[in-house]
Amino acid sequence: MPDVFADLVGQDDAVDTLRRAAASAAAVLRAAHLPAPSATAVDPDDDLAALAEADGGAADGGTATAVDPGAGMTHAWIFTGPPGSGRSVAARAFAAALQCVHGTGCGTCPGCHTTLAGTHADVRLVAPEGLSIGVGEMRALVLRAASTPSGGRWQVVIIEDADRLTEAAGNALLKAVEEPPPRTVFLLCAPSTHPEDVSVTIRSRCRIVPLRQPSAAAVAEVLVARDGIAPDVAQWAAAAAQGHVGRARRLARDPEARQRRDAVLAVPRRLTGVGTALDAASALIEAAEAEAAASVAESDAAERAALQTALGAGGTGRGAAGATRGSASQLKDLEKRQKSRATRAQRDALDRALVDLAGFYRDALTSALRAPVAPVHTDTAPLAEAGGQKWAPEGALRRLEAVLECRAAIEANVKPRIAVEAMMLSLWRG
Ligand SMILES: [Zn+2]
Repeated sequence: MPDVFADLVGQDDAVDTLRRAAASAAAVLRAAHLPAPSATAVDPDDDLAALAEADGGAADGGTATAVDPGAGMTHAWIFTGPPGSGRSVAARAFAAALQCVHGTGCGTCPGCHTTLAGTHADVRLVAPEGLSIGVGEMRALVLRAASTPSGGRWQVVIIEDADRLTEAAGNALLKAVEEPPPRTVFLLCAPSTHPEDVSVTIRSRCRIVPLRQPSAAAVAEVLVARDGIAPDVAQWAAAAAQGHVGRARRLARDPEARQRRDAVLAVPRRLTGVGTALDAASALIEAAEAEAAASVAESDAAERAALQTALGAGGTGRGAAGATRGSASQLKDLEKRQKSRATRAQRDALDRALVDLAGFYRDALTSALRAPVAPVHTDTAPLAEAGGQKWAPEGALRRLEAVLECRAAIEANVKPRIAVEAMMLSLWRG
């Protein structure tokens, strides 16, 4: 039976760290439930001292000198790694292991099961739907995280995009991480530990779990073994997704995702002049908008309906005027949140397209250099090879840089249309 860590593809080191920490956390709980004198019988390999002290000094603090600090459990963690490496998968798996009744992350007990299903009462997940996580949300979360875990184990807070915390939200979180309640564990996910992603003060309080980009072979293996995808399709999708497990799965399964990718990879052929370059820019932006709109439409409608039901739409009588004013502002809030989520979905869709395009020019470059590496996009490899011959390494590199600059510009808040138009013109001029 696969345990909760089975979904972490190609991350042996991280899984090893997390397993040991989960075992240590389970030992802390066992120690806390024992009368003080017997607590010294706890496995001295675990770094219990800090947590056990916080738990009321149940374990002998003297064990701290004899332990490997790398094995232990701590209150705050940061999972870092490139997109698709499984940061939030790792955080959820670890949360499940902490709530596991066996303390291992068995994958089958109620603790594991409810955590992975997102219904465990002591696991809270913050996934910003907009471009940032606000201070109000963070304060409410920190407050609730301080309560005693109802299941008797840990209060776990997962912050999926810790790099999207506003400064005020970061400060609210920092206070909690600096003086954590004894049974609260914070699991932060961020692309890197760069100060732009996570503030230095927060980072200094956390243990870091670096995840790497899994190899195409490891991703393909998972698609075959766990998703029942045919080996040839799995290999193609894993390479095309460039180490992003979720993207590889979508490409293997969703014909629309494949069509969108085909359209993006047709761009280099279509750039024959200024007009076609600007058309290609429009097409790319509009495709990202359409993809984003489709991805949020369902949840937007459901949220709106739920809010209207909650507000008792169309009420009359005493207090109805005041209630209407109140509900108008709630609807406005909802619309604001939805708009912010749509913007983010558009950026994510556009970024995926740009990563695909970068892969094409990278293939052209490696082919021009005759580098002995496998292409990212096997299906457009002949085209990339022809491009590489025509452009020479310098020309292929300039084009690759144009795509990467476009991503960086959008990340720095340049209007996507302007950045993409500039990129297409550079790709056409070469
Ligand atoms: Zn379990």
